[in-house]
Amino acid sequence: RLMTNHLFSLIRDGVPDPAKTVIETPEGRRYAYADLIARAGAYAAALRAAGVAPGDRVAVQVEKSPEVIFLYLGVVRAGAVFLPLNTAYTPAEIGYFLGDAEPTVFVCDPGRREALAEAAAGVRTIWTLDGAGGGSAAEAADQQDGDVADVPRGPEDLAAILYTSGTTGRSKGAMLTHDNLASNARTLVDTWRFTADDVLIHALPVFHTHGLFVATNTVLASGGSMLFLPRLDPKLILSLMPRASVLMGVPTFYTRLLKEPGLTPEAATGMRLFVSGSAPLLAETHREWQARTGHAILERYGMTETNMSTSNPYDGDRVAGTVGFPLPGVSLRVVDPEGGRVLGPDTVGMIEVKGRNVFQGYWRMPEKTAAEFRADGFFITGDLGKIDGRGYVHIVGRGKDLIISGGFNVYPKEVETEIDALPGVVESAVIGLAHPDFGEAVTAVVVGGPGCPDEAGVQAALENRLARFKCPKRVLFVDELPRNTMGKVQKNLLREAHAGLYRD
Ligand code: ATP
Ligand code: MG
Repeated sequence: RLMTNHLFSLIRDGVPDPAKTVIETPEGRRYAYADLIARAGAYAAALRAAGVAPGDRVAVQVEKSPEVIFLYLGVVRAGAVFLPLNTAYTPAEIGYFLGDAEPTVFVCDPGRREALAEAAAGVRTIWTLDGAGGGSAAEAADQQDGDVADVPRGPEDLAAILYTSGTTGRSKGAMLTHDNLASNARTLVDTWRFTADDVLIHALPVFHTHGLFVATNTVLASGGSMLFLPRLDPKLILSLMPRASVLMGVPTFYTRLLKEPGLTPEAATGMRLFVSGSAPLLAETHREWQARTGHAILERYGMTETNMSTSNPYDGDRVAGTVGFPLPGVSLRVVDPEGGRVLGPDTVGMIEVKGRNVFQGYWRMPEKTAAEFRADGFFITGDLGKIDGRGYVHIVGRGKDLIISGGFNVYPKEVETEIDALPGVVESAVIGLAHPDFGEAVTAVVVGGPGCPDEAGVQAALENRLARFKCPKRVLFVDELPRNTMGKVQKNLLREAHAGLYRD
């Protein structure tokens, strides 16, 4: 096995044949492993020529393209810290992140350079990724001749800072080391049996842990290749399946693909694996997918801070509504949030994780970091869950979404599961809203389809299935739930929108 934990060595050592394609775009552009290594080397040289020292941050906000991956690997080869930013962020938000991260270089798209000038005013070097007119990272790389030696990095040195999705509040910068990323990629190659023959349909953004690390690093570490799509495009994905072997997506991928009449067992014949993560996959989606394609989606659980923590088994039962077992090398326990006592099977508590996958802390937030780690090294994820009698981990929801109504704990997911099972209901989100008597009132926000019951109908249907304190006091109907780019329901937006519902 590999002797080094340098993230780039992991990739270089996995290259089967330098001429082999690593990335292909829908327009038919192909890049070989040799191109990837050379481009990354040229970027590394350009960064060093620009004065980027080991440990310096290189921030990027660019639309997805193969070039971003080459730049990412160039940063890693230069011994610097890759810091990708969500393409949806506004200049004001970018200003905040650049102020927080203090990168030496900031790379943006040519079309946004002007809009971002003020936000990036404090950054020494601003490049566009490519494009004419001077000052582009691609040009700087072109001016370098040949390969450079990788800057040596130890296992505890940072390779990336990734900001969390901001689902529960302001995003935090998670500091990830070479060892965090390299060891997790290796584990995923083994667990999901990746080989150089694999072709991944890559339609995830590359500023998030899912698309950048889980998807990209795993393929690169196995010598496989990627069909690189700029965004989720169900028809295009369907048309690519005959040439691919693996799809990784958020639950939205699967619900959108299920709307395609072309999704048949034949369409998925050559595929060996469908993976879902980043948000809960409805058991219903899992079942429908299996009925339509013959494949059981493999659901797994991770977060920016912990990389991948659990996976349903590659062989064996992929159980709908669970995220499977802790990966090799990952310790996971469920703890009573108040007393810190480790809980037995089937009891809901706070999920805590420890292992080489777990990050080093939040960038420039020492107090927050200290508060989220136990003395014995376990990271407090903020997710509520349980481990069942067979060892499968169930995510019940986020600690911050727990509703305390009249002194009773209500787990939104339990209520959502019952509502989603009602005929005519497409999906639901259950939130707690301030209430003069109950403190918080259980409130359901429902997306209804044909035949969906009305408010009284939903309430009546739940009466026999849930204890009274869990039943929604009000049921609101919407056309769709607010979701962020990773397909996560933004409950904070729902709570804000309906904050005054029970005030008179
Ligand atoms: P922030 O921490 O800024 O509020 P975030 O937690 O959404 O945002 P990410 O790191 O992208 O940022 O997401 C990790 C979270 O996503 C997990 O803590 C968990 O709540 C959720 N998650 C990931 N995979 C699953 C899954 N398979 N089922 C349920 N929830 C999941
Ligand atoms: Mg989080």
